[in-house]
Amino acid sequence: MSRLTHSEFHMVHRIGWLRAAVLGANDGLVSTASLVVGVASAGSGRPEILIAGLAGLVAGAMSMAAGEYVSVSSQTDAEQADIARETKELRETPEAELDELKRIYVERGLDESLALQVAVQLTEKDALGAHSRDELGISETVTAHPIQAALVSAATFAAGAVVPLIVASLAPTAQITLVVALTTLVALAVLGGLGAAAGGAGIVKGATRVTFWGALAMAATAAVGTIFGVAL
Ligand SMILES: [Zn+2]
Repeated sequence: MSRLTHSEFHMVHRIGWLRAAVLGANDGLVSTASLVVGVASAGSGRPEILIAGLAGLVAGAMSMAAGEYVSVSSQTDAEQADIARETKELRETPEAELDELKRIYVERGLDESLALQVAVQLTEKDALGAHSRDELGISETVTAHPIQAALVSAATFAAGAVVPLIVASLAPTAQITLVVALTTLVALAVLGGLGAAAGGAGIVKGATRVTFWGALAMAATAAVGTIFGVAL
């Protein structure tokens, strides 16, 4: 793997967050817009549509936060378990651990004597830090924090979800389905393009893909809303 420059590393790190934010906003936008379009297609009035949309926003944001918290926590738990095992191995078999570290540096291209020298010095400075970083691939800078990740996930979901809610509160009641559907498709195209650009993929392809699935989701809920609207 080519070594990243300092600024490239931060760029990669920022891109990771940007992509997660775009995906979160995308979820919020599609699920809430589909809910609004579904309830509006059933012939409901603006208050019912907004209540359903708001409930969808809150429910979606909470479930995203819960899901992110659980997944990041279990990742953190696994990392903590690895570090505890490593601490025990460093205490019980320090020679074998030093040899292991040396072999990692040899595999990365250092010659035997230099690799041993580096392993000895890094072990003297911070043995656990060296093994966590170079053997387990765990470093403080890339470790996600469950609460932070949960809050970011909920916030990005809500940021996407609020768009169809604002549109539904401003559009003429009879036009809510159409106006929400069109503005959501435009917002999805923008988000899809942004997400694709952040990941270095084709903007048009990214925008088309996200817009297609968004349109499909809204068409499905509009159909359900229309069927149930007629039936009730
Ligand atoms: Zn080790």
